[in-house]
Amino acid sequence: MELSDKQKMFEKVVGMETAKLMGLEFDCVCGQTHRIPIKHLSMKPDAVADVKDRLRKLGISGKGAVVYDKKIESIVVDPVLARLKKGGLSLERYPVGDGFEILPPEIELSKKIADRIAAAPGGGGVKGGVDYLVSIGSGVVSDLVKYAASLIEKPFILLATAPSMNGYTSSMAALTDRAIKKTLMILPAHGVFADYGILMKSPVELVRSGLGDILSKSICNADWKLSELVKNTYYCSLSFRITDKSEPLYLDAAEEIGARTEQGIAALTDGIMRSGLSMTVIGTSTPSSGAEHFLSHYWDLIALIEHKAKNFHGVQVGVATIIILKLYDFIRNYPVKQSIDLEKLKQNYPTEADVRSFIERRFGLYAAGVREEFLKKYLGWREKKQEIEGILDRWGSIWNELSPYIRTVKPIEEALRKSGAAHTFAHLGKTRDEVIDSLRNATLIRGRYTILDLANDLGIMEKAVETIL
Ligand SMILES: [Zn+2]
Ligand SMILES: [Zn+2]
Repeated sequence: MELSDKQKMFEKVVGMETAKLMGLEFDCVCGQTHRIPIKHLSMKPDAVADVKDRLRKLGISGKGAVVYDKKIESIVVDPVLARLKKGGLSLERYPVGDGFEILPPEIELSKKIADRIAAAPGGGGVKGGVDYLVSIGSGVVSDLVKYAASLIEKPFILLATAPSMNGYTSSMAALTDRAIKKTLMILPAHGVFADYGILMKSPVELVRSGLGDILSKSICNADWKLSELVKNTYYCSLSFRITDKSEPLYLDAAEEIGARTEQGIAALTDGIMRSGLSMTVIGTSTPSSGAEHFLSHYWDLIALIEHKAKNFHGVQVGVATIIILKLYDFIRNYPVKQSIDLEKLKQNYPTEADVRSFIERRFGLYAAGVREEFLKKYLGWREKKQEIEGILDRWGSIWNELSPYIRTVKPIEEALRKSGAAHTFAHLGKTRDEVIDSLRNATLIRGRYTILDLANDLGIMEKAVETIL
């Protein structure tokens, strides 16, 4: 294929309706072949009505194991199951949790679910008894089912119960292993069903969480681009372009989203599905997880260490996005060339031993997982100095290349405000000192390079927080 043909195909893909992207496979201008192995996506007012026919078309039959959080059994699951059973589907219930506790998104729990389903009577051997899995839930349950289905190699479908995050269409499951969030590759979902009737009744805080999660998309891609410019890592603009298309739609619909009208839920659902696909096409979570997600994961980890309550993922991400946008703005306008003193940076630069002992003190029981991540990107001073010099040499061009991805704070803040979502760290119950601590240290918990590393490496984080917080 000529380059121009590839370019045309790229633009065609970006312009395609979300549901039409299922099953996509094409050779991209970036040199990679991008695939969306999910077979079907229904997003509409009565998507549950599609399930039976779609399963038949997908060649899935027999007995299905329905996994859900016991907490939503009577409100959401019972009516859905009644409809599906009336349609002739043979389904068995596998509730998780006790209906009170918040479900932990843990690899261990996913394995337990897989074991229970694999041991179901009526079939032959370990993988007998159940022919496919059905998830009725949002983030945690979807991820548990995705991974459990991969473990026992059964097809699965996801029925969304809240537009609270972007994982339904992602080819990954985000589960924790000893409190560190891991992104696990999974078999793709056969079908994803987002029924607006169900989503419109989901708790408003979950809806706001979905909005917060996708508002971060441009800044995630800015971080990914920054990593390409500094670390020479792989980058493709397809993910950004896929999500960019829906951004004006959900920004405009922020009030409707907060009010959970059909129009608002439709705009948000389209946004979260495209966001999930932006990860699937690349095969990593990078296009949907930048410094703002690191802050949110850091807050979760500290909450765990200090036995404090967490906020919803996307609610935290929304606030963190505002903080990181301000950080981008601060650094972009900082007179680095006049003020960066490499000698001074050298004196303050931590040795590997310094970092190791700090991680030990800060993260206690969870230090091993953090250390493993951070050491992926730690450089000794000599290499770090070269990296910084390279950045300073190309300062102007780096910011020119980043500029298409960086949003102004105002419209993002407005959207959160109009939807009724948290938009300051105080709304999350965080103090200024806690946020400063996270800006300094969130970079430790992930191996990827982001704007947090740039700010810390240039020694300007302290100045930045005086301005942005
Ligand atoms: Zn590409
Ligand atoms: Zn997220």
